[in-house]
Amino acid sequence: MGQIIVMEELLSNKIAAGEVVERPASVVKELVENAIDASSTSIEIVLEEAGLAKIQVTDNGKGMDEEDAVQSFSRHATSKITTEHDLFRIRSLGFRGEALASIASVSKISLWTSDGENIGTKVELEGGTILSCTPAPIRRGTDIVVKQLFFNTPARLKYLKTIQTELGHSIDLINRLALSYPNIAFKLSNNGQTIIQTSGRGDLRQVLASIYGISNVKKMVAFENESSDFRISGYATLPEITRASKNYITILVNGRWVKHYGLNNAIVDAYHTLLPIGRFPIVVLNIETDPMLTDVNVHPAKHQIRLSKEKELMELVRQTIRSVIHQVQQPPKITEKPIVKQQPSVQFDIFKQSYTEEPKPFNAPAIEEREQPTVVYEEVESLQKEIVVEEIIVEEHVEVKKPFPDLHVVGQIHGTYIVAQSDDGFYLIDQHAAQERIKYEFYKEKVGKVSSSERQALLLPLTFHYSLDEAYRIKESLEELQNVGIFLEEFGTSSFVVREHPTWFPKGHETKIIESLIEQILTNRTTDIKKLREEAAIMMSCKLSIKANHYLTTRDMEQLLDSLKNAQHPLTCPHGRPVIVHFSTYEVEKMFKRVM
Ligand code: ADP
Ligand code: MG
Repeated sequence: MGQIIVMEELLSNKIAAGEVVERPASVVKELVENAIDASSTSIEIVLEEAGLAKIQVTDNGKGMDEEDAVQSFSRHATSKITTEHDLFRIRSLGFRGEALASIASVSKISLWTSDGENIGTKVELEGGTILSCTPAPIRRGTDIVVKQLFFNTPARLKYLKTIQTELGHSIDLINRLALSYPNIAFKLSNNGQTIIQTSGRGDLRQVLASIYGISNVKKMVAFENESSDFRISGYATLPEITRASKNYITILVNGRWVKHYGLNNAIVDAYHTLLPIGRFPIVVLNIETDPMLTDVNVHPAKHQIRLSKEKELMELVRQTIRSVIHQVQQPPKITEKPIVKQQPSVQFDIFKQSYTEEPKPFNAPAIEEREQPTVVYEEVESLQKEIVVEEIIVEEHVEVKKPFPDLHVVGQIHGTYIVAQSDDGFYLIDQHAAQERIKYEFYKEKVGKVSSSERQALLLPLTFHYSLDEAYRIKESLEELQNVGIFLEEFGTSSFVVREHPTWFPKGHETKIIESLIEQILTNRTTDIKKLREEAAIMMSCKLSIKANHYLTTRDMEQLLDSLKNAQHPLTCPHGRPVIVHFSTYEVEKMFKRVM
């Protein structure tokens, strides 16, 4: 007697729910995505106890007739695709036809729906079983209430986190959906309190302002670009605004918020050497492409995506963001305007703002009263926040960098910092960081074009010994190493000699640098020549830069500041740490209570 039976639908729905319905936010996601697919322009999400007690989603979309309203709760019931052919051309957020069936199997649901012209329908379900289906009033749209989530799956209920964490997931989700659809008005509330509200006017900057705050949006620049397969656009923060995690990066592919490791890295890479280690930008990246090049059918929750021509896209993203940030940092056509009055600041210098969310104790008087010094960016046109019908209006603005200040050396302190003054106050410059930046840019340029004419023979060849397997891997990478100026010759089975090096190679550090770069190849197995060049430039700049506790003559300091002025990115060292800090005259006068 055969023991295999086909599961009944209720049981299989409950199993599917294990993947689709992980927590209240997953229900919110599926319901709101359905509302978006139904062409709604206004979507309201009402939660009680972060959705554990109740989740209600009301939309003004196209609604359903009675037959569809009942059918929508069946497994694999969808109006979005019909043939296999459609699976490769998905433009809607949903397509698997299993969300409503899964949610219904683990909760109690009431659904009202109508196309706005014909009599509406009300369907009630419990644990996936339809209890009733009755006529309901005419009102265009759908209203769905999910109560007692996981009432029949206690184990799942047990694994939920605190109410605050669960609410956090829904807030994060609605934020991302609001960023994906600026022309839909979203409202999210919990226990009667409004948490998110967007206008639906189609202005992405407005949505960004309502999520991240106007002051951060002021420091965001728009970008746009395209290749033959992709069109990208969005907003990215200037390097001075950073966050401690990558969670503030939103990647949208054809309107769908996705998590994509490679694209995340491409974005972070665009800020290479401009941000400190462990700090990340706020970015919204919109990618439009032919759905044929994407595969969203990777996970039931549709968070992940596979992309064809991924490398091409990553390069487009990296270059576009990098160049737009670079452009904004170009010296100016400055329209001199008085510095816009800013919020009193607890930050002592402009850079700290990027590092610390919390004010740091500083035992000088009345920090709170100080105005935030503005060294780097001066507002040319400011953004304004006006509250009109609870709506945030964000004006487009242009951010222009002041030219690097004309600095006159005053002296050096602790053998580490250069003190310089200018018309607008005084500056502290970290001599090591400054030189690292200058040397990094020099070596990056050099390593980029290793020419055969610029070589110099060593008096005594250098020898390097490795184990057999390491030697084998090194032999595979000889060309990459040549491209960064390291000319290894095989010498026996597992040794190598270097007889010459480029003329610009840092003197006295040859062995260490060659060993470190070979180490790079061995540990990271990187054959990415760009990365290797980058590593080489950073390593050489760090080895060669003057360290702290090293006394400099006035002439040395003047030369250093002169070279810094000509650097492409004079504000940070290659590790993203600040090079220069400004103390404005006004700030100093305030400290001494010369002005109030
Ligand atoms: P999918 O979204 O993958 O198609 P769902 O189970 O989420 O599957 O929904 C099943 C179907 O129910 C959808 O294809 C759609 O036709 C209909 N539907 C669900 N929610 C709504 C809504 N808010 N407005 C109109 N139709 C809806
Ligand atoms: Mg759906």
